[in-house]
Amino acid sequence: MTALTHQTISQLAAEYGFSAAYCFMPMPEDGAPKGVRTLVLLTRTYTPGGRLVDRFYPCSNRAYHQAKLLGERLTAEYGVQTWRLSNLRLKPMCRRLAAFGTGLNTLNYLPKIGSRFCMELLGLSEKIDPTPMIPYPVDQLPCTRCRRCMAACPTGAIMENGFIKERCIRFHMMNGKPMPEEMRSLIGTEEGAKGILGCEICQRVCPANAQKERERSGTDDFTLAELLRCDAETLAHFGELYGKNYAIRNRILAQAVLTAAHQGEQYREEMEALKDSPSPVVAEHAAWALKK
Ligand code: SF4
Ligand code: SF4
Repeated sequence: MTALTHQTISQLAAEYGFSAAYCFMPMPEDGAPKGVRTLVLLTRTYTPGGRLVDRFYPCSNRAYHQAKLLGERLTAEYGVQTWRLSNLRLKPMCRRLAAFGTGLNTLNYLPKIGSRFCMELLGLSEKIDPTPMIPYPVDQLPCTRCRRCMAACPTGAIMENGFIKERCIRFHMMNGKPMPEEMRSLIGTEEGAKGILGCEICQRVCPANAQKERERSGTDDFTLAELLRCDAETLAHFGELYGKNYAIRNRILAQAVLTAAHQGEQYREEMEALKDSPSPVVAEHAAWALKK
């Protein structure tokens, strides 16, 4: 059995669609299980886009499954025990890794890719030399003289002294609770948040994302009409693309009906039907949409 190195891990990670793999030592504050001697942070880039579901989500779901396969391969071919650790807090880890920058919007950045990547974390039972990292070029993230994300956020979630999670639209999407009324008119509009999942206004305006922004695609995997019906086939496909944890019919309907509110009379019939939904959140959103 050949020795495992950070170079080998990077090569294998590329085979599973990851753009990079960073090996580093765990610190007590990371909260990794006992026995983890190396952490491997995997990144996977995506092209921004989507009007209903942000392109981050299919990327993240794919990364989740591919990281599992990579972990299994490392065990089979190199005899190391692996742990899936993406439930740990990854942002603080990125802050101590030289390769990453951190924006005023609290997101992690990589050169050229900007914030358009998702992450997975594996733990390994072997000690591996850390991946050498080129420090993030700070001039790519000119936060001190920029402040565009703070100005663009429609709900004031980004402040000089930090980020207020409860003010972020994304925090209120698909969480099974009614969307705060003042945010509803921002859902699914051209300049607002996505219709079903994601917001990303604060990423769109960031100069560090300019390169990726030129590749933006507006296409969606579903139509709004399909999501307003959300039949078994649509729901299964939704789960395959974005993850089973998001494939919850009433949560999709609750979002879809807010988006339909901006479409004039086109979806009145669907909204009328959903007003009597047994789900209080769907019914409340549908009643709001009809009033609007
Ligand atoms: S938009 Fe400007 S202030 Fe915000 S993260 Fe990007 S560079 Fe920093
Ligand atoms: S995701 Fe949207 S609501 Fe949340 S901080 Fe960014 S711009 Fe504001």
